Amino acid sequence: MTAGDARARVERLAAAVAERELDQLIVGDLVRPGDTGPDFGANLRWLSGFTGTSGLAVIGPQARIFITDFRYVERAEHEVGDALEHRRAERRLIPELAGQLEGRVGYDDAATSVANLRKLEESLAERDGGVELVPASGLVERLRRVKDEGEQRAMAEAARLADQVYEDIAAQGLVGRRERDVALAAAARIRELGGEPAFAAIVAAGPNGSAPHAEPSDREIAAGELVVWDMGARVDGYCSDCTRTFAAGEPDTEARDVYELVCSAQAAGLDGVRAGIGGADADEIAREVIKAGGHGEEFGHGLGHGVGLEIHEAPRLAPRSEDQLLEGDAVTVEPGVYVPGRFGVRIEDLVIVTADGHHNLSSLPKELRVVD
Ligand code: ZN
Ligand code: ZN
Repeated sequence: MTAGDARARVERLAAAVAERELDQLIVGDLVRPGDTGPDFGANLRWLSGFTGTSGLAVIGPQARIFITDFRYVERAEHEVGDALEHRRAERRLIPELAGQLEGRVGYDDAATSVANLRKLEESLAERDGGVELVPASGLVERLRRVKDEGEQRAMAEAARLADQVYEDIAAQGLVGRRERDVALAAAARIRELGGEPAFAAIVAAGPNGSAPHAEPSDREIAAGELVVWDMGARVDGYCSDCTRTFAAGEPDTEARDVYELVCSAQAAGLDGVRAGIGGADADEIAREVIKAGGHGEEFGHGLGHGVGLEIHEAPRLAPRSEDQLLEGDAVTVEPGVYVPGRFGVRIEDLVIVTADGHHNLSSLPKELRVVD
């Protein structure tokens, strides 16, 4: 992010805060403010470029404040630059935060623990500044949704890296390997190629594949089984998300038929993705194909989700979604069929929504790949 981009993001957020009739908004993780992880720290990272695990920002028409502790003072100077005024917490972050607040202050009730809200209220009570705390989640997430050029570049690179890892690991064969070993080998390869795993990969063979979010087990992959393999890389903080279902040796006809059905549903879903379509309508297009194939009851999740600094973010493509796709949204298209006790099939691509369609960041082929 350039210094200009950083200032522009701060100004956009300050405007959104004013529009919400707040004087200030607290940005950051108020569950573990001194020890946050990449997902909980995503709003702060988007706003400021800060990649440390301890930081908070206060943004409003009159506020451009960034707080960190002594461990990250130098990193903050380097990463955050002068788009925000730097404050160093002498004690923990929350008492320092309390000292910066004025007026009607929004806090992210989706990322605040009850314990920390009480601590903040206690710190505020000590100074009697007439601060009113107002729940206000989602303000930064709305601005994060549409990805700029630099963000799209990072996601494309993450997707390309994951594609390479699928190729490299599948080339070593699947039959007789434990699910967990495949997942570990994939994570190690992502790191070798310069990325980080975006999430713990799912490698689920045969009956394990019928749980959409199975954890890789010690079970050996047997000949003839389908293997649902869901994996993503993280580059410059941005995630990719892809699923391919491989065949470990020649599968039976039923498995092949279900695979072809999911493949057609995925193609139909992709065809529907463009700016302006509703998340529920996009879902419906793919779901109709699976229903018509007689497996509607076995597609138990939504068609897709937004991806960015977090692996799951706005918008949602699902039956009850009220979102509309926007140009620059990064979303997955991932229909699946899960036949209990037998196998699962899911095919997932990550795409950037354009005015008249989409740009697919996943380049792996989709015909069923048989790997011994
Ligand atoms: Zn996935
Ligand atoms: Zn996904």
